[in-house]
Amino acid sequence: MTGHLMPERADEATDPVCGMTVDVKEATAKGLTAEHEGTTYNFCGRGCKLEFEEDPGHYLDPSYRPSM
Ligand SMILES: [Zn+2]
Repeated sequence: MTGHLMPERADEATDPVCGMTVDVKEATAKGLTAEHEGTTYNFCGRGCKLEFEEDPGHYLDPSYRPSM
């Protein structure tokens, strides 16, 4: 876990794998983003990104419930 900075509300996204709120700038700076069908997704960490890339459809399915 990194230190908690003041959140910048415009740049937040939800990690589709675990449901965490992710700072888009931070995710972009760390390379924790993935593009799928023209949409960029942001992740809290490498694990979530790798899981997503393995099976994007699974995590984007409306019946999928994000969990840690
Ligand atoms: Zn995550």
